[in-house]
Amino acid sequence: MSVFEAPDFAEHDIVQFCRDARSDLSAIIAVHDRALGPGAGGCRMWPYPSGAAALRDVLRLSRGMSYKNAMAGLPLGGGKSVIIGDPATDKTPALFRALGRFIDGLGGAYIGAEDVGVTPEDMAQVASQTSYVAGLNKGAHASGDPSPLTAYGVFRGIEAAAAHRLGRNDLEGLRVAVQGVGHVGYYLCQKLAEAGAELVVADVDAAALARVRDEFSAQLVAPQDILAAPVDVLAPCAMGAVLDEQTIARLQAVIVSGSANNQLAAPRHGAALRARGILYAPDYVINAGGIINAADEMLGRSYDRGKVLVQVSAIYDTLRDVFERAEAEQRPTNMVADAMARQRLAEAQRRKYGTPARFPKVA
Ligand code: NAD
Repeated sequence: MSVFEAPDFAEHDIVQFCRDARSDLSAIIAVHDRALGPGAGGCRMWPYPSGAAALRDVLRLSRGMSYKNAMAGLPLGGGKSVIIGDPATDKTPALFRALGRFIDGLGGAYIGAEDVGVTPEDMAQVASQTSYVAGLNKGAHASGDPSPLTAYGVFRGIEAAAAHRLGRNDLEGLRVAVQGVGHVGYYLCQKLAEAGAELVVADVDAAALARVRDEFSAQLVAPQDILAAPVDVLAPCAMGAVLDEQTIARLQAVIVSGSANNQLAAPRHGAALRARGILYAPDYVINAGGIINAADEMLGRSYDRGKVLVQVSAIYDTLRDVFERAEAEQRPTNMVADAMARQRLAEAQRRKYGTPARFPKVA
């Protein structure tokens, strides 16, 4: 498959194929849109079965970053990079330094950070070759671990969903099931416990589970039982594609709002949730706390925690807007969020280039 025929290519600004024989790097950098700012998004390392699979992923992910950054109101466009390789066996410092040189060659069109399979240490190697990188532990503008801010955004999203769906202004006694109590899930449990919510949690990591049981009196359930737990809210904070025909039919929660990326196995599952009266907080809107936290670092500005907290807190208002429009238009929330993001991108295109919108409205 050539790039131009790739189904997800049509709207992209730049796709760069990167090959460095000395370090054995094979990577793709994709920049979806830059009307709002430089293409910003993580670097993922994954053992893709083929170059076509890696291309499909990076195109889809970079478009997702355009939507996420637009909905978060950030002066950033959408970008992503993928390294083809197994993070458990194929990592070397030279590999990441080579990626850093390719990123540098794009002159700021793309700004990277860590993502699945990549650590802050790996990004430090990238940063030795380019300044177009964020999510570092050290340095003048370092924004550090994004997870507590992502969790705070999800917490505000649960508050927005509870207000809209249940007419509640507090979370006291609300039953919340958290799938995955890793980096984000742990901090989310902490915020929910402080707010008086009752926690039901599952993880495949026994130590992570024991910690939330001991610290927040969470009830533990088996991983296969968490999605159908008798709760008010389900917060998927582990892997993607957890919501499909089978799992949606079993849900007892009336709200789904968690941090995991790509929670819907396919876009049509947003309609399936709506048909069951379940309010879904679109993933890229509710989980934007991490990118909001890193935005100033990406733009070379000094880090201001107070400003970040205000911006992350505003995820509440953005979601209320999405929920209200979805109700008024009788449409699934994921479709409404996509339409809002595309409208923001089209307006930014018009402002910056004076051209007609490159982003047609989604039906
Ligand atoms: P993490 O790896 O720290 O935590 C994920 C947890 O899920 C782990 O404890 C893991 O053991 C558990 N898990 C894996 N399979 C499971 C299963 N079948 N059932 C129950 N638990 C299972 O990752 P994280 O950084 O906390 O991110 C969680 C999700 O949020 C991911 O989908 C990630 O892409 C997304 N996200 C994270 C951030 C961030 O700031 N970290 C930002 C945006 C989106």
